[in-house]
Amino acid sequence: MPHDAVILGLKDYEIKDMYRADGGLVIEARYSGPVLCPHCNGVRLRKKDRFVRRLRHESWGMRQCHVHLEALKFHCQDCGRYFNQRFPGIRCRYRSTEVFRRQIFWQHYDGICRKRLSERQHIGTATVERWFHDFLEREISERSDEPCPQELGIDEHFFTKQKGYATTFCDLKHHKVYDVVLGRSELSLQAYMGRLRGKDKVRVVCIDLSSSYRSIIRKYFPNAKIVADRFHVMRLVNHHFLAAWREIDPQRSRNRGLLSLMRRHEENLKPEQKERLQAYLAEYPALEAIYAFKQRLCRLLRKKCCTAKRCRRWIRRLISYINQLKTCGIEQLETLGRTLGSWDGEIAAMWRFSKNNGITEGFHNKMETISRMAYGFRNFDNYRLRVRVMCA
Ligand SMILES: [Zn+2]
Repeated sequence: MPHDAVILGLKDYEIKDMYRADGGLVIEARYSGPVLCPHCNGVRLRKKDRFVRRLRHESWGMRQCHVHLEALKFHCQDCGRYFNQRFPGIRCRYRSTEVFRRQIFWQHYDGICRKRLSERQHIGTATVERWFHDFLEREISERSDEPCPQELGIDEHFFTKQKGYATTFCDLKHHKVYDVVLGRSELSLQAYMGRLRGKDKVRVVCIDLSSSYRSIIRKYFPNAKIVADRFHVMRLVNHHFLAAWREIDPQRSRNRGLLSLMRRHEENLKPEQKERLQAYLAEYPALEAIYAFKQRLCRLLRKKCCTAKRCRRWIRRLISYINQLKTCGIEQLETLGRTLGSWDGEIAAMWRFSKNNGITEGFHNKMETISRMAYGFRNFDNYRLRVRVMCA
């Protein structure tokens, strides 16, 4: 009957009867497809016994559903072995259909906690966890041999107090997490990097200003262009600039209103705010000059999606700014100059490419949610498995 497959969600089954029992629903069914010997694929079979398999099936709304399936024991006349009938969509010796297991997987995936699911569906919490894990592994095994993405974002995030930090490898082109690996130093990543496939095809790698990541990329991704992450570059500039301000005027630099005006981009200030800031800066001519310089520097660093010709012009300007910083005589700004100087190539690459690590940082947010939903992870492999499936 054509409706049987629609009702049951399984192909080649015939519904014999349906009735209510204990507030739930029982479907009595029979398999109508061909039966083969699982050992030799033989078809010369002799029925030896019949029994009923009672299986939990996907719930209909709030009603729990059971399938009573007529099953047979056979003797294969080709290989001489005995076997119990196998059914598509139901695994051997399992007491639930795959459809039901998948339903539990998706409900847990969508955020219904183990305890609530266990109470509603009358299964154990450990069962929910085990099934969820099974399906995650099934999902990941389908794409286990994916090569490394061509546009990669690498960043660290905190995992646990005991295990420390983890490194995220993010596919910036397709907006998904490629992998997470425990550790952030070269030593802890070298085994993973060694066995990574498709390293030579990686074109762009976006990182924050971390020298350990830079040396790893230079070593393992020979053809990749390193791009600095704009957010981190701007934050660094702001950090050193505010520290220099604290040295010049320790008293007023603690004023929260003034602090907010100083750290913002000039064009985001309202006219009255601009006036207030200029009135303050007029008291300190040295600070005024530094402020104007910072605004020029930030305008340069915020440029994006440019042609190679334009980039060449701007890199000359960047180098001149860096030289000015290095020789300005203020310790904080000299440090900034040295740091920007050592990252000038990566910063110039930032103008050329539109991608940045905002995508990776966004995934870190999601990973935090995954971790919170599970009330934290102790086992990194479980965490990695979830992240790889749920952030893809
Ligand atoms: Zn056989």
